[in-house]
Amino acid sequence: MKTKGVVLVEPGKVEVVERELVVGPHDVLVETEVAGICGTDKNFYLGRVPKMNGPGYRKNDTLMNLPFAIGHEGGGIVRDVGAGVRRFKPGDHVMNFDVNATMAEYFVADENNLEPSPEGLESEVACLGEAIACATFSGLHSNVNLGDAVVVYGVGFAGQIIAQVMKKKGAATVVVVDIVDEKLELAKSLGADVAINAAKDDPVAAVLDLTGGKGADVVAEAAGVDRTINQAIESVRHNGTLVFYSWVTQDVTINISRLHHDSLNLINTGLVHHTRQERTVWTPWALRPVVQGLTQITPLFNRRFDLEDAVEAFRRDAEDGVTVKTLLVA
Ligand SMILES: [Zn+2]
Repeated sequence: MKTKGVVLVEPGKVEVVERELVVGPHDVLVETEVAGICGTDKNFYLGRVPKMNGPGYRKNDTLMNLPFAIGHEGGGIVRDVGAGVRRFKPGDHVMNFDVNATMAEYFVADENNLEPSPEGLESEVACLGEAIACATFSGLHSNVNLGDAVVVYGVGFAGQIIAQVMKKKGAATVVVVDIVDEKLELAKSLGADVAINAAKDDPVAAVLDLTGGKGADVVAEAAGVDRTINQAIESVRHNGTLVFYSWVTQDVTINISRLHHDSLNLINTGLVHHTRQERTVWTPWALRPVVQGLTQITPLFNRRFDLEDAVEAFRRDAEDGVTVKTLLVA
């Protein structure tokens, strides 16, 4: 069958084109309800792709081969399944967990790259389950304890959720740091205690001031640039915890001596980069507080475009700085 979907042709240029879909024996055909533009997609769009290295990669391997049928956030309703599919049947509501060209009217995914949508979530939230589960997982695994002072660097979509989860876990003070006032105000409206605009004030000095010179118990890094990574490291107290979340696309120089000398705990919280089995186990737990209404997701969806208008959606997402999450409605 054919579908209309978004293709990244070259950095800075996306198009909505028709292409052929084939459903293999272990594949599921999903009719997309909503897809999301992730920070990752924005990096792809801007041509910011890191070098891949380590076991399993060859020299100069890249995550992005152009033209690239883009999209990993999204979900919808199962319309067809291959003969070997066991986990899903037509009519099931699912959310996608891998790069499967979700910014399209229909997408095809191996059944192991999908998770069932939990009951009780509105459609937009359920479709963005991957992004929500990943950020919630980070907050749940952040070591935050009752009474802690915590800092979140970067309150895009993930940082907004991490800040909310840390507050609900019992942090006494949640400090959010960003360079966009609108995002900081949103975080405060959703429970953060102190907002620091790092374009105007020194966030490290502010955190030290708030903590009697000690530094924060837990600091999450969700902005992903050289400056914020170093500020995050400098904001942690002796023996405190640094929660690493961002996908960092460029090489960064950090003061690693601080991690050694002050014996910082480093927690890597990228759920989708754990094993597939762990992801399947953890996703329902990560979405439980969302189903329970303990965290608020809908206010984070501050841009909505029809799939047809993906060109404009990407342009705005990359340029305006105020976007927390752009949804593409199929
Ligand atoms: Zn994502």
